[in-house]
Amino acid sequence: MTIALPTIMNGKKGLIMGVANDRSIAWGIARTLHAAGASLFFTYQNDVYGSRVAPLVKELTGTDNIVPCAVERESDVASAIKTAHDKLGGLDFVVHSLAFSDKAELDGRFVNTSRDNFLKSMEISCYSFILTARLAAPLMTNGGSILTLSYEGASRVMKNYNVMGVCKAALESSVRYLADDLGAANIRVNALSAGPMKTLAGSAVASGRATFNWQGDNNPLRRNMNLDDIGGSALYLLSDLSRSVTGEVHFVDGGYNIVGMMAM
Ligand code: NAD
Repeated sequence: MTIALPTIMNGKKGLIMGVANDRSIAWGIARTLHAAGASLFFTYQNDVYGSRVAPLVKELTGTDNIVPCAVERESDVASAIKTAHDKLGGLDFVVHSLAFSDKAELDGRFVNTSRDNFLKSMEISCYSFILTARLAAPLMTNGGSILTLSYEGASRVMKNYNVMGVCKAALESSVRYLADDLGAANIRVNALSAGPMKTLAGSAVASGRATFNWQGDNNPLRRNMNLDDIGGSALYLLSDLSRSVTGEVHFVDGGYNIVGMMAM
């Protein structure tokens, strides 16, 4: 189904962090925001991704609005946010759509989580969001909206999701604390909790395909989500339509989070 989008993002300027390829959730969000009239700036993690993402950005926006940003380097995050602000002439929203865990620990028992991977996963998947909000907020002089991506493994046990579930729980809690800190500056902070998607990150979790099929078969809508589904919900949270919504974790999962039994 193609939905005609209102151009409610005309004049809005924002940074998209976390596109790895055209299947990335961040890319789905970017496509929707662009169709709704937003001006966009992008980051990529490293050269491997950059060579794939720069042509996508050029094709979508006709610009070279993209810089590298490995979020464990504070200087990268600061520079990306400032460059986006200066190049676009302002900053109204930021999309943080990235996470990391050693793939080996997204398989098997959570009890075996290593200290090193716990700390690295938390740094990339949660702390980077706090850092991004701290550095972006002073440049969002007309208020704004900051969005991150979560998954229901934050609150319910999802086989093999392991340390990432704990990172997402911390991320969702961070959304609430940041929303309270930044609300006085009219900056809203929210998360989308997406159903399973066929992306690089999604495929890093052992049994990811089985989880994808199970949730698609058993959620109330009896289907999986696509990039436009996530993009539409992101558009709401990043636009003025949601101007009184902050600190929320909004499910885009076909309603899977409400069911207690498999479909019959
Ligand atoms: P993806 O692999 O397309 O995107 C993940 C991104 O994280 C990549 O662009 C990667 O470069 C980036 N990244 C990892 N380490 C980084 C680092 N050190 N510095 C900078 N960037 C780094 O996968 P995706 O599914 O689009 O994931 C985006 C977000 O959505 C993640 O937070 C993920 O946990 C979340 N999410 C995914 C699913 C799913 O099923 N795929 C479901 C719910 C939520």
